[in-house]
Amino acid sequence: MVQPYKHEPFTDFKIEENKKAYLQGLETVKGYLGQDYDLLIGGERVTTEDKIVSYNPANKEEVIGRVSKANKELAEKAMQAAVEAFKTWKKTKPETRADVLFKAAAILRRRKHEFSALLTKEAGKPWNEADADTAEAIDFLEYYARRILDIKDGVPVQSRPNEYNRYDYIPLGVGVIISPWNFPLAIMAGTAVAALVAGNTVLLKPASTTPIVAAKFVEVLEESGLPKGVLNFVPGSGAEVGDYLVDHKDTRFISFTGSRDVGLRIYKRAAELNEGQVWLKRVIAEMGGKDTLVVDSDADLELAAQSIVASAFGFSGQKCSAGSRAVIVEDVYDQVLNRAVELTNQLTLGNPEEQGTYMGPVIDQSAYNKIMEYIEIGKQEGKLMAGGEGDNSKGFFIKPTIFADLDPKSRIMQEEIFGPVIGFSKAKDFDHALEIANNTEYGLTGAVITRNREHIQKAREDFHVGNLYFNRGCTGAIVGYQPFGGFNMSGTDSKAGGPDYILLHMQAKTTSEMY
Ligand code: GLU
Repeated sequence: MVQPYKHEPFTDFKIEENKKAYLQGLETVKGYLGQDYDLLIGGERVTTEDKIVSYNPANKEEVIGRVSKANKELAEKAMQAAVEAFKTWKKTKPETRADVLFKAAAILRRRKHEFSALLTKEAGKPWNEADADTAEAIDFLEYYARRILDIKDGVPVQSRPNEYNRYDYIPLGVGVIISPWNFPLAIMAGTAVAALVAGNTVLLKPASTTPIVAAKFVEVLEESGLPKGVLNFVPGSGAEVGDYLVDHKDTRFISFTGSRDVGLRIYKRAAELNEGQVWLKRVIAEMGGKDTLVVDSDADLELAAQSIVASAFGFSGQKCSAGSRAVIVEDVYDQVLNRAVELTNQLTLGNPEEQGTYMGPVIDQSAYNKIMEYIEIGKQEGKLMAGGEGDNSKGFFIKPTIFADLDPKSRIMQEEIFGPVIGFSKAKDFDHALEIANNTEYGLTGAVITRNREHIQKAREDFHVGNLYFNRGCTGAIVGYQPFGGFNMSGTDSKAGGPDYILLHMQAKTTSEMY
């Protein structure tokens, strides 16, 4: 029997020993900066001339590493390896598959601060954000391993006399995992291992801005005893390798986390039947968000301001769960806005390697450009209350930015910016606030700060988001505690870290025997 699941605790860096452990991790990472990494195809390492170069977003000159880049031919080879490996992996006992995840979790736990430091270097995550990302990766491993053990013998169905009915879950086949840069360890690992532990084989295409942490995690899976060909590592361009694999007749499912536009493109391409394909591809998609914090008139206003600031600016707002709109009932609007501005002006922006830095850079030049464009739009649409400036001379730094007095239909209040920018709008009353909160095409996270029990109940029913939080911020879902995923344009309503997540990577088979 395995022990019951409990989430990995966050590290308290005020404790000297933990601080030292992180700094030691940083030294370890510095020791391997700039190295080359291979593709992994059928258990063989493949080196290509063409490389994806990963840079430190806080220091553009610093190369984190270079990873070989797959093309169509190599993607095809990887597909063949995955098809072959599926024949045996699907018959491998679920317990054995779970054991690979348990060992990988133990290795990650042992090397926790090294992985966190690598997240700092490659994604610009401050210490606590990096620590949370690593903890979440461990949680996904521990949680999904237990879930497969729970369902390995199927679930009960009724049988009549002289009849024996069973209902079992079997794997789907080869899956393509396309993972994002904003949780380069947690979501990359979580989406890959959910597929694997269910008995599928996978092709992992990590985000091109954060391939090194993925390469290091693939080494951990190998060390944990994952057989050859079960996971194939194929970094490459979305337009070449991504499309090729999404279109491939042997692809059975695609698990994608990223932007709305790419998600829609994948969904559409996956619906096309290709020569030789005998199934409907399944798409698991986690897309964007335009997440709202609602503040009621009788709320704890200090809690409201703190929740808004933390949800908007944690990891520079680069979470699909990030609070990017604050909708405040009018009698407390000024007070909450002013306090949020005060708190925002106290945040530190700088090198994420330094302890105590609240916000590091955004991920790359194109993110920087896009966010700066939105800041210009915000200046037209609303009133700039904090931030509004960027500096990309050394890294991609943008000040935490607040716009006030926005029309709820303005672009700042409607479009996903994916950066440290939040808009404030005034609502006449609580009902109006909920109405505004629901007026985007997304439906991922939301928060309501209120002391009114009836309003809590109303929001529970009417605030249409996958993850709704009361009297706290709207980021930081914990695996196995707050399964994460959204409605509408936020994705396929799949809940990562939830009890039914691995079932999305399986199909149910009914058997009925007469005695
Ligand atoms: N699960 C994360 C959270 O609750 C967000 C994941 C994402 O941004 O993709 O904050």
